[in-house]
Amino acid sequence: MIEVKKIEKYYAGKKALDEINFTVNEGEILGFLGPNGAGKSTTMNIITGYIAPTKGTVLIDGFDIIREPKKAKSRIGYLPEQPPLYMDMTVKGYLNFMYDLKKVRLNKQQHINEICEKVGILDVYNRTIKKLSKGYKQRIGIAQALIGYPPVIILDEPTVGLDPKQIISVRNLIKSLSKNHTVIFSSHILSEVQAVCSRILVINKGRIVADNPAELLSGTSHMSDKIVAQVDGDTQKVQEIIKEVQGVIEINDISHKGDNIYEYIITFEKGFDIRRGMFKALAQNDMPIIKFDIMEPSLEDVFIELTSRQDNVINGECNETAEDLQGSQEESLNDKEVLNDDNADESLENTAENTSVQRSDSNDSDI
Ligand code: ADP
Ligand code: MG
Repeated sequence: MIEVKKIEKYYAGKKALDEINFTVNEGEILGFLGPNGAGKSTTMNIITGYIAPTKGTVLIDGFDIIREPKKAKSRIGYLPEQPPLYMDMTVKGYLNFMYDLKKVRLNKQQHINEICEKVGILDVYNRTIKKLSKGYKQRIGIAQALIGYPPVIILDEPTVGLDPKQIISVRNLIKSLSKNHTVIFSSHILSEVQAVCSRILVINKGRIVADNPAELLSGTSHMSDKIVAQVDGDTQKVQEIIKEVQGVIEINDISHKGDNIYEYIITFEKGFDIRRGMFKALAQNDMPIIKFDIMEPSLEDVFIELTSRQDNVINGECNETAEDLQGSQEESLNDKEVLNDDNADESLENTAENTSVQRSDSNDSDI
């Protein structure tokens, strides 16, 4: 359905994409995962014909996006990073305008109504776009991408800036789209692509780092080096006991959870299984474990692991120079700020996911 062949992109002489190659089959829901600056938007802008690649070709249903743009573009609905909205228009005016622009030949009112219902914007249909929340604006952006029901839907970070409840509704919407569409959506949140996609493509620094790595789909806990545990017992003693367990490096971030229960974050040697050792040591001292979880590694850790593995495969060894390492460390520091924000988002999401069943959709108050 989508063939991306040897795409390269330079911005003012600086390489942003380096030989991007992949195909997406009909009905696939592809998650394009990568940190900020990885090249996700550039790739999507090229696939959709917004910008031209420096080298390489893109075929949509066999049609070259540069040579046969009308045919290729008519098969794509695109939500760019910044939704292309006319702020002074009403939702109704805008979607009718987009319908006419795309020269769709369906029953106009029925079609627009159906899409508004699908993305949950019927209640603001007659309102001016600029007065609506980010959540609604994003969904209006998704609605315009759906107009004409093109077979390919491409969404660039559709959940950025949304609150946890809106994130869940957009994710469910994306999942439901895959019944009738081939979908590519980008994200820098690992748990999001894991939750939504049938396939994950990992991009970093303008290169595809991994295509559907099994370890991302099956969970990343084996890449972790941290456990979060709540233990009932004198905190000094608990720490002394855990520190003695084979494989444990350190124990910190201690917080009081009530009575004699404290929560600990325990760092261990990667690849070492400390669970049995911890259980035995604490049980011997009559200190019950109340909660025990392996912490998911950060996206940054996952990238480092995947990237180094790919370097090893391609080059036979890791051939990063000191300069490269310096650069990547600086970047990873910059990324870390972003990723930390994301972690905050994710913990909110998780809370929302856990509680969403108790919430009512009818009091959607994000106008
Ligand atoms: P992502 O969407 O994954 O965050 P982008 O595709 O936006 O990444 O950016 C990839 C790289 O290209 C970054 O280094 C970015 O700074 C650079 N870049 C993106 N757009 C432009 C542009 N219009 N001009 C110059 N550099 C750009
Ligand atoms: Mg982007």
